[in-house]
Order: sequence, then structure tokens, then C-alpha cells
Amino acid sequence: MFDFLIVGAGFAGCTLANCIATNLNRRVLLIDVRNHIGGNAYDSYNPDGVLVHNYGAHIFHTNSKKVIDYLSQFTQWRVYQHQVLAAVDGDLYPIPLNLNTINKLYALNLSSQELQNFYAEVREKYDRIENSEQAVVGKVGRDLYEKFFKNYTHKQWELWPHELDASVCARIPVRTNRDNRYFGDKYQLMPLHGFTRMFEKMLAHPNIKVMLNTSFQEVESWLKFDHLIYTGPIDQFFSYKYGKLPYRSLRFEFQTHDQEYFQPVAVVNYPNEYDFTRIVESKHITGQKHHKTTTYYEYPQAEGDPYYPVPRPENRALFQQYKQEAEKLESVTFIGRLAQYQYYNMDQVVAAALSVFENRISKL
Ligand code: FAD
Ligand code: UDP
Repeated sequence: MFDFLIVGAGFAGCTLANCIATNLNRRVLLIDVRNHIGGNAYDSYNPDGVLVHNYGAHIFHTNSKKVIDYLSQFTQWRVYQHQVLAAVDGDLYPIPLNLNTINKLYALNLSSQELQNFYAEVREKYDRIENSEQAVVGKVGRDLYEKFFKNYTHKQWELWPHELDASVCARIPVRTNRDNRYFGDKYQLMPLHGFTRMFEKMLAHPNIKVMLNTSFQEVESWLKFDHLIYTGPIDQFFSYKYGKLPYRSLRFEFQTHDQEYFQPVAVVNYPNEYDFTRIVESKHITGQKHHKTTTYYEYPQAEGDPYYPVPRPENRALFQQYKQEAEKLESVTFIGRLAQYQYYNMDQVVAAALSVFENRISKL
């Protein structure tokens, strides 16, 4: 008999398991259908000894001191400021768009102020920004939109930017300075020994029992527990009674090369050519020294593990139906990227889990 059953050993499940075991001194069974902890943030050493992110590059960044302080109990950090280049018209350009990108692309020598004027001239004006096309064209105009965003977005989502919420492309800022970093957050850090080591520490508590290779559906009829925390897809929990929520998946193609580095930065995006969206080289991110290097090509696809909720109005409406069902269940808490159907980053999942712990779980 456990006090809590937690389904899913990703950031949401591990944070809650740790808080319940440590702060409430209650017993938790944490299960995951996969054969490892960590959810999509899982990392491991491949047969060549290179530390890879098995589910695509995961870079930790946050503005929340609370989240950093919480995770710092389980890991030391390595400072890492992520940079991405986009391959456009046969050359590599910094993305997010900034002064370096625009000056190189158009062979100009603009100042920051002149770039601001440039954007103001080329941008299209909308009364309201209602989708991702407007979110980009409304800031930087159509040419930059077409070179950097339109086709990448279609490849990634099999939808055009005008079919997606503005928030999707608005994840990428637009700059007028020379800041080439992908993220602007105050804390940009990687767990020094990787994510999996950090998760192991979060779960190293006598009140936590972990069971892998176990789906909720296999055990729900006979396991005894007082409260359930569900971090898997919410539509699956309700047996798809209102229909399937769309998720986007990826196929990763890993290659190890007999050379120290493969590309100049951790991620190179290919908006306009090839079927893959980006090539990732994790040694840049992890800081590992090794005479070989591993790259992963990301091929978006409809089928496969649910990696991305698809942010658009009809999906939000469908999710609301499930959410209303979820709110009727007092002994179940839904939390995390799949259970909340939110395009959350890792830090947002930790923040949401800490908040649900304080406001709900600790009061049960
Ligand atoms: P998950 O990590 O998805 O964990 C859910 C777990 O539940 C999974 O392990 C799954 O196996 C398990 N599960 C599901 N259903 C069941 C069931 N029925 N029974 C048992 N187990 C079940 N965020 C960043 O901050 N920075 C990044 O750079 C970044 N890059 C990303 C790149 C990719 C390709 C992807 C897909 C995501 C990226 N993210 C990134 C987002 C990050 O992965 C998530 O925010 C975070 O891992 C979500 O944690 P979670 O616990 O909510 O869900
Ligand atoms: N995007 C784009 N071109 C780029 C990078 C991003 O069009 O070079 C768009 C695309 O729609 C993508 C979204 O912005 O899905 C968010 O990008 P991000 O890098 O945050 O995606 P993630 O790392 O979550 O896959």
C-alpha cells in the first residue's frame, strides 16, 4: 500500500516524488512505461562513450531562482550558453535573428538603431497577433519569415505558421543587438554530470520505490494507493473518450564520427532543405571531452512517442473537455507537459510541480 502512485518518471514525476517523500514523509510508488527514469530529459552514454540526450537536445534555462535552488540540491552545474545557427541560402546565420544575422544576410553594416528602423519598415502591421505567421511577419517582415520560419515550421508541425498559435514561433525572440545566444534567461546551466544523475539523486530516498517497464494501464486495477499523480497524456488516461489530442513526434538518427567535433555549435537548423529540422551535437552542450563525437538528426513525424502538444485553438478546446473531466477527480492530480497539454520547457514543469505540491498535494 502506497500513499501516492505517480505515473511518469520525468521532471514532473521526479519533482513530486521527491517533495512528497522528503517533505511529507509519505510513501510513493513511481512507475514509468519506459526502461529508464528522466522522461524525455533522459541522457546516457552511448557505446562509444559519448553522453547523448536520447530524446533530442535538452538545454536547461530559466529565470526562476526558486527552480534553480530546488534542483541545486541534486546537482552541480556547468555554465552553458546555447547558440544555434540556421543554414540559409548556403551559409550559416545566427538564430534568433539579430544584428549579426541581418548584416551578414543582406551584406549591410547597420547599427542597432538602424536595425530597429529596418524591422519597422519591413514588418507587416496587424491589429491583433493571432497566429505564428503574424507573430513573425509582424516583427521582421516576410522575407526573413520565409527564409527562417515558414518551412522549418511546416517541417516540424506539418502545419503552416498561420495554423499554429502565435506562442509557437514567439518562442524565438527577435533582437537588435549582437546577442547570438538562443535563450535570454538569467540562468543558463547544464547539470554537471547530466540529467540522469540528477534524477537518480532526486529519487534516492527510502520512501520512493521506482518500477520501470510498467504502464499505468497494466497496474491500475490491482495497485492500492490513496492519491494518483498522472504525468502521461491526459487523453490516454480518459481512454480518448472525446477523441485523440494531436501530438507531434520525432525520429532521431544518431551517428558517431571519428573526429573531435562535427559542427561549429551544438545545433544547426535546416529550415528549407532536407527532411530533418536540425542536427544536434551534444558534446558542445555537455562539455564532454572525447576524441569522437555524436550527432543526432531530428526528423519530425506524426506517429511515435508524444513529444509536442500542438498549440492551436481546436486542440485547446478539446483539451478543455478533458480538463473538465480531470477537475471532477479529487483523488487524481494531472501535471506536466502531456497531462496539461502545454508546450512546457523543463523549468516550467518543475515550477508547475512545485506549485501543485505546495497548493494541493501538501494539503491532502
Ligand atoms: P515527460 O518527460 O514526457 O515524462 C512523462 C513520462 O511519463 C515519460 O517517461 C513516459 O514514458 C511516462 N508515461 C506516459 N504515459 C504513461 C503510462 N500510461 N504509464 C506509465 N508511464 C507513462 N525543455 C527545455 O527546457 N529545454 C530544451 O532544450 C528542451 N528540448 C526539448 C527537445 C525535445 C525534442 C523535446 C521533445 C522536448 C524538449 N524540452 C526541452 C521539453 C522537456 O522535454 C519537457 O518540458 C520535460 O521533459 C517534460 O517533463 P514531464 O515530466 O512533464 O514529461
Ligand atoms: N522555428 C523556426 N525556425 C527556427 C527555429 C524555430 O521556424 O530556426 C519555429 C518552429 O515552429 C519551432 C518553434 O519556432 O517549432 C519553436 O522553436 P524551438 O527551437 O523552441 O523548438 P523546440 O526546441 O521546442 O523543438
